Amino acid sequence: MRLNTDGLIIKETNVGDADRFVTVLTRDMGVIRAFVRGARSIKSRSLSATQLLGYSRLYVFMSRDTYVIDEAEPIEVFFGVRGDFTRTSLAMYFCELISELAPEGNDSQEILSLALNTLYKLSNNKLPTHQLKAIFEMRLLSLTGYMPALVGCEHCGKYSDDTMYFDVEHSQLYCSSCKPSQHTFALGVGVVTALRHICLSDPEKVFSFTLSAAGLKSLSEISEIYLLARTQRRYKSLDLYKSFT
Ligand SMILES: [Zn+2]
Repeated sequence: MRLNTDGLIIKETNVGDADRFVTVLTRDMGVIRAFVRGARSIKSRSLSATQLLGYSRLYVFMSRDTYVIDEAEPIEVFFGVRGDFTRTSLAMYFCELISELAPEGNDSQEILSLALNTLYKLSNNKLPTHQLKAIFEMRLLSLTGYMPALVGCEHCGKYSDDTMYFDVEHSQLYCSSCKPSQHTFALGVGVVTALRHICLSDPEKVFSFTLSAAGLKSLSEISEIYLLARTQRRYKSLDLYKSFT
């Protein structure tokens, strides 16, 4: 049976002289690994369509236990991401995160939309890279079962305080009167509001907030700390991104 779906290439590995193995975040089947027959032939229309960060229409069939892509047409190649080290390394980090967190075999429409919208804004320089990074980290975690409890103080329910304290290990927020004595990070009102916005707003509004430079720095730091605590691993592309910023 031949299926068609659209998907974002999040990893590519060349095989032999002409073939390519790819990992794809598809709209309908979650993350799949697939063999691209003849992908690297100059004549192949699949060449650009199956490169890393390509978003493409894919024709897929199952051969024994392996998905095979026998035709691919590029929809978007995010040209503006390529050729800039900061933007390329950040896009690679997004791909690594998808590979780590997105489910296999499930409908991934919302994760795909988040990835495409983030890459579009990165490609067109629409928002500071630190802001896009924090949005992608926190929203992806929220979509994959790691949304922190941000509605109010975990102990007394207080919604807002001049400074609130985030317990990364337990994914909980506290007001200044109830904060545990250790292992929390202090966050200003703007950062708490931004975190709530990223995790809880409608998908089309997730990018629309502004923060001061200091707030953005704090948001970026806490989002990364939270992501690294949840996924318990290092990301080469993140180290690379940080070496450029
Ligand atoms: Zn409290």
